[in-house]
Amino acid sequence: MPDLTTLSLTQYSHLLHSGELSSRELTEACLARIDALDPDLQAFLHLDPEGALAQADAADQTLIAARKSGETPHLLTGIPLAIKDVISVAGLPCTSGSKILEGFVPPFDATAVARLRAAGVIIVGKTNTDEFAMGSSTENSAYGTSRNPWDTSRVPGGSSGGSAAAVAARLVPGALGSDTGGSIRQPASFCGVTGIKPTYGRVSRYGLVAYGSSLDCVGAFAPSAADAALIFSTIAGHDPLDATSVALPIENHASRFTHQEGAPLSSLRVGVPKEYFIEGIQPAVETAVRAAIAQLQALGAEIHEISLPHTEYALPVYYLIAPAEASANLARFDGVRYGPREAGETMWDVFFNTRGERFGAEVKRRIMLGTYALSAGYYDAYYGQAQKVRTLIKRDFETAFGQVDVIAAPVAPTTAFKIGVHSNDPLAMYLEDVFTLPANLAGVPGISFPVGFDGDAQQELGGLPIGMQLMGPHFREDVLFRAADAYQGVTDWHTRMPDEPLK
Ligand code: GLN
Repeated sequence: MPDLTTLSLTQYSHLLHSGELSSRELTEACLARIDALDPDLQAFLHLDPEGALAQADAADQTLIAARKSGETPHLLTGIPLAIKDVISVAGLPCTSGSKILEGFVPPFDATAVARLRAAGVIIVGKTNTDEFAMGSSTENSAYGTSRNPWDTSRVPGGSSGGSAAAVAARLVPGALGSDTGGSIRQPASFCGVTGIKPTYGRVSRYGLVAYGSSLDCVGAFAPSAADAALIFSTIAGHDPLDATSVALPIENHASRFTHQEGAPLSSLRVGVPKEYFIEGIQPAVETAVRAAIAQLQALGAEIHEISLPHTEYALPVYYLIAPAEASANLARFDGVRYGPREAGETMWDVFFNTRGERFGAEVKRRIMLGTYALSAGYYDAYYGQAQKVRTLIKRDFETAFGQVDVIAAPVAPTTAFKIGVHSNDPLAMYLEDVFTLPANLAGVPGISFPVGFDGDAQQELGGLPIGMQLMGPHFREDVLFRAADAYQGVTDWHTRMPDEPLK
């Protein structure tokens, strides 16, 4: 059995290509690890062991044929991955963490999933999420809360918490997630893995259950930046099924990750925005992020203090725009077109009963907030105003990227919090997103990767992972990957694993 805890996705790829490892062996090892650890983590909502093994056997045939013919297969051929449950996989349930989609099985693959399949990826199952991706902890899932592998009394972050936990515990070597306001970067930070939120429009949203359509992005989790880049470059690119996807060339990221001698980041200008180092941020988070910035400098980067003056408006702007778009998007869940239906005398009773009983509290809150912000008489004051301020936030980034190549910042103000602490305080939960929302509002890409642990002496557990975020100009994911990869070339935070048995 391969030891899943020590190898990276890229290393598996080499073993699969050389024939030292079969996709069936690797997939069986993942399934065995899921069997052993997922009862404690609850990262998965649905597993497809038979389907996965059948796909693995097919991938093994492809790999054998390629070795015979001397062709090079795709680097992801035979690699098992997990998919967040807001992303459609043909034939597997897609609940989006909601009772309103209980038992719903979509008949088609999301474009990102179709591209993974075409590359020979094995789809192991679907991972837990806050209901319709609304949340920062997975506590809003209708199917229970996933656990943080570093401390199972804590949340893994969210909304893509199941994917992050699954990768952190190496149940799978990578996973897809979605990020509307931080849902890839924040759980990556809480779980100590690397997560990429691509530029808006870089990866097709076809088959992603819509939350905030002007903000939603499909992206990836993996242990390292090089691994995340491999998944990213496989799913990215124009798709006629998503009119917002952009036809720009994607670099072959897999070929560019060779560590150079000397200063790999020389001439990289890193901006440090003063608005992201505010009161209330956990001291260990600031210390670790500042140390990581110093490490980038040691790798040759120039560090510049910059300002993103409208940062403080990102939270109110997001919590108007995202709920407004959600209230429109979620109108389609009426018990008629998708999923189960509650009984009722009239058509209106059916809608009312289905939506009333099957949407959770947070989803209802956002539908009400969003409907209010869009309603006649309030539209200009709320939604219209929020759109104007969104433009100012975008301009902050345009100005900053005239001066620097990337922006370095914390991902979240704290490390993973205990399950339940924010459940009755939506505002405290929303505040977890302050550092991630601006990138979504501006549409720019962001990567989150581990840069240390909060070594709080009172924590018997030896600390929780801390992530740093790098944001880049539109369509410059390559710069983010290069910087994170250079950092990971000289540090080992991304290779650390939670102790087993899990605590
Ligand atoms: N936590 C944020 C929210 O609750 C972001 C969620 C996301 O990115 N899907 O909306």
